[in-house]
Amino acid sequence: MPIVNVMERFVEQKMDEILPTVKCCTCEKCLDDIRAMALNKLPPKYVSTDKGKLFSKLNSLKEKQNGVDIHIAVLSAIEFVAANPRHDHSQQGDEKKSED
Ligand SMILES: [Zn+2]
Repeated sequence: MPIVNVMERFVEQKMDEILPTVKCCTCEKCLDDIRAMALNKLPPKYVSTDKGKLFSKLNSLKEKQNGVDIHIAVLSAIEFVAANPRHDHSQQGDEKKSED
């Protein structure tokens, strides 16, 4: 049974929701920083489930969570990265994808 940190999914969903509404660089490095920073503020939530059941599990967990803490964590991470981007401007958007 695979173990999944569903918090990662919540953070990604929330980033998709918030990023179009704010001014923030969305290069890979900044997105990674936002994701990492938000996840560091949030407790991991591991579930063991097969992929077919993950979606319904996500939805039921989401209802309990109400999305509020996640929203705050992601929003503050975006604000921080927007103000302190770590990307190299000369290489922006031109990063090699060496990871899977
Ligand atoms: Zn960037």
